[in-house]
Amino acid sequence: MSEYDAGFKAALEEAKQGAKEGGIPIGACLVDKDGKILGQGHNMRLQKDSATLHAEISTLENAGRLPASAYKGATMYTTLSPCQMCTGACLLYKVSRVVMGGTYISASQNNTFVGGDKLLKQRGVEVVNLKNAECEGLMKKFIDDHPEDWYEDIGDAPKKSQ
Ligand SMILES: [Zn+2]
Repeated sequence: MSEYDAGFKAALEEAKQGAKEGGIPIGACLVDKDGKILGQGHNMRLQKDSATLHAEISTLENAGRLPASAYKGATMYTTLSPCQMCTGACLLYKVSRVVMGGTYISASQNNTFVGGDKLLKQRGVEVVNLKNAECEGLMKKFIDDHPEDWYEDIGDAPKKSQ
């Protein structure tokens, strides 16, 4: 698993597309066991006033209705550590592996976004963190510019000490 994977490149392109649209810059891509892209998407919360369209959910939605066998051995690439909702969706469909571009850690280190990494591992899903500077940079810029939109996205109240 690396930054050269087609799935990762597609997820990063989706994140950039999200940024271009003024949205939260997180992208994802679902790749099957043979390396075929089943779907890709980006966070549409702001664009669609959606409560659920995180990048991973957009991706599953864009991949469409699939039989359980399609997810067997599949990899969900996402540019950011998945939240609990997206972790749940990956577990539900039994995706075998989650490859994340990175985790976001603020300059003050007190609002680390810890997603579902631990739960995924506990449930036998392989988790790879590529610690990609571009993914983390996109998030850092967005959170610095729009902290309120970010906290809303992860179901949190804005922090006062930004
Ligand atoms: Zn999510």
